[in-house]
Amino acid sequence: MNNNKTFQDALVRLEDVLQHIRLVDDVRERLSHPKLSLTASIPVRMDDGSLRVFTGYRVQYDDTRGPTKGGIRYHPHVDLDEVTSLSFWMTIKCAVVGLPYGGAKGGVEVNAKELSRMELERLSRGYVRAVADILGPERDIPAPDMYTNATVMGWMCDEYAQIVRRQEPAVITGKPVHLCGSLGREAATGRGAVYALEEWARRRGLVPSETTVAVQGFGNAGYHFARLADRAGFRIVAIGDSQGAIHAAQGLNPDSVMEHKRNRSELRAFYCDASVCEEIPYDRLTHAELLELDVDVLVPAALENQIDAGNAARVRARQILEVANGPVTSEADRILRERGIPVLPDVLCNAGGVIVSYFEWVQNRNGYYWEEEEVNARLKTIMDREAAACFDLAEARSVSPRTAAYLRAMERISGAITARGTREYFNHGPQA
Ligand code: NAD
Repeated sequence: MNNNKTFQDALVRLEDVLQHIRLVDDVRERLSHPKLSLTASIPVRMDDGSLRVFTGYRVQYDDTRGPTKGGIRYHPHVDLDEVTSLSFWMTIKCAVVGLPYGGAKGGVEVNAKELSRMELERLSRGYVRAVADILGPERDIPAPDMYTNATVMGWMCDEYAQIVRRQEPAVITGKPVHLCGSLGREAATGRGAVYALEEWARRRGLVPSETTVAVQGFGNAGYHFARLADRAGFRIVAIGDSQGAIHAAQGLNPDSVMEHKRNRSELRAFYCDASVCEEIPYDRLTHAELLELDVDVLVPAALENQIDAGNAARVRARQILEVANGPVTSEADRILRERGIPVLPDVLCNAGGVIVSYFEWVQNRNGYYWEEEEVNARLKTIMDREAAACFDLAEARSVSPRTAAYLRAMERISGAITARGTREYFNHGPQA
């Protein structure tokens, strides 16, 4: 644990926004604490016969607006502070885009790359056994996050079905399409972020073909963002992953770079036309250099706390679009604001994933599945509407896009808290 550093920083955003909106004290108090935090030991039999115990977490932050929703992360640095912060952001995010959910998050402290496939499956099933009592389609619905994917969600869904002795696909989203998953879910986070970027570009008069973009993180969110932004005409000039980054001023082709990465496990600037691939001129960059590139749009799509007080003054991008959760600290936010660099916030820009997870849950509960075009069109309707509303509010109130997004979320959450009435008075409180 790092003394709740990230969570305390997340709460700074709450305090910031409370300066712009009048809320009853109950709302502030309720939203400053997670509703339920669970820490569990997960014993896993390894392939060599030994036993290893992993630590897993599930935090349900707030369920006023509906069942809690949020992904499960596998990463060596996962701790309760990180999972709590992520569950807080999920609460805000679901409210920003008007989904009928509260927020949650889960995680396991593990380097998934070191486990065999069978060990990973045993760990994933063990995680579900540890938290099953607090999950459920009407209670808490997990999804993928860093280093978990549709395959892991499939195993988890199966384990849950074994425990409750019935099929319950709506308990988890981001499942494989063959196991009641939704078409369009895989690319939804990146696609939603491109819709947000397009809305912003229209307002700022940015011409996509002249707009250079650097992307940090080339996993589910970063890859699909880069691929779809490239398709929308933006110029992707740099891509980074955990090993480093590549930069080509003429522009990179994300599909070709991914094809090479899949085959060779390394980032190189290949351009493929049909079956013919050739390397184009490019430079190698460090993690730090990627974040400090002179580009129009910087897109952190990997981990939190990437731009902080230490490097915010060196950022040369004209705007930042957050695809990762929490990549810019509150202190960096302040520095960037003073330098006139707008930050388009995570709680809006990466909401495409949870929006299509919501569609998956709706389809599971109806037992009727939509065509991919319908999924994408409904995603676009929500992203266009909510991005436009946030950017309009930011302009009208002269606040940052992040503050505007939080204002819209707080209005919805506090409206729901107030609408639920004063139950506590009747259960434990003073007599009226
Ligand atoms: P992923 O596991 O698919 O990919 C993570 C990527 O980050 C990999 O390319 C990895 O190489 C890279 N990476 C790891 N450490 C790095 C470092 N130090 N520097 C640069 N790159 C690094 O994960 P993902 O699902 O794409 O999630 C990425 C971010 O997006 C996370 O913050 C996650 O919470 C957020 N997010 C994801 C979704 C989703 O649907 N997948 C939805 C909303 C938000």
